[in-house]
Amino acid sequence: MNDQLQRFIFDAYQIRGEIAQAHNSFNDIIKKHDYSTEVANLVGELLIATSLITATLKFNGKITVQLQGDGPLNTAVINANQNLEIRGTANVTGDTTGLSFKQLVGKGHLMITISPEEGERYQGIVALEKDSLSECLEDYFIKSEQLATRIILHASVKNKAQAAGLLLQTLPAVDENHEADFQHVSALASTVKEEELYTLSNDELLYRLYHQEKVRLFEIQPISFKCSCSKERCLTSLASITADEILEMLNEQGSIDMHCEYCASDYHFEKDDLQILLHDEQGLQH
Ligand SMILES: [Zn+2]
Repeated sequence: MNDQLQRFIFDAYQIRGEIAQAHNSFNDIIKKHDYSTEVANLVGELLIATSLITATLKFNGKITVQLQGDGPLNTAVINANQNLEIRGTANVTGDTTGLSFKQLVGKGHLMITISPEEGERYQGIVALEKDSLSECLEDYFIKSEQLATRIILHASVKNKAQAAGLLLQTLPAVDENHEADFQHVSALASTVKEEELYTLSNDELLYRLYHQEKVRLFEIQPISFKCSCSKERCLTSLASITADEILEMLNEQGSIDMHCEYCASDYHFEKDDLQILLHDEQGLQH
């Protein structure tokens, strides 16, 4: 099954939903890293969460969903754009074996940054006070958007990388009956099994949960792993330090090597590759 997300809406209720599966992208994100099972699973959940959140927004641009705390998992971050092109990484210090979500992240917060191609950058933040990533996100939506939200996230690396999830959310302007409606569809969603989220098609899954409801499905959106790093971007970041500093690094190390934390690509620059930077900088200085 290809990585994909599908939005749906209930005819009878003012509630929208989404289902996402991203086994391949999850595998692409973790395969070149030596994450523990606990860290890998959390990265997988964050990948699905970011896909689900991205699809609730109407924007062109980038979104970053980041967990930051004082636990052994310092940061876990997923970047995405409106086309659900996704990358992610985690920074870990210390042993994470057997740790729960709370033990992994410690005291910290969840940050969502939306950078549209046009318009203002938006940042939302919520303290990590719940026992799971999905509950922290539900908390975020209630506190920052006043939207009742149910999020189910699953990720596993047991036999192979698998990640999937489901989101239900009340529409912004809902009538007074919405709470009972939301409890109803939410309770049905809670009966879904991890394995069903991994393996069933969207139609099968929605039939399994909501065969007594009228559910309208939107077009399937592909999810894919894509890293935006490149040789040009490395050169751009090198341009932020002075020519003297670049020369000093070249003298000390013979070359400059850069590593992408997201996709584990290595970029190697000899002095000849950096002539443009060295000349530009000198031109500016004299
Ligand atoms: Zn990269």
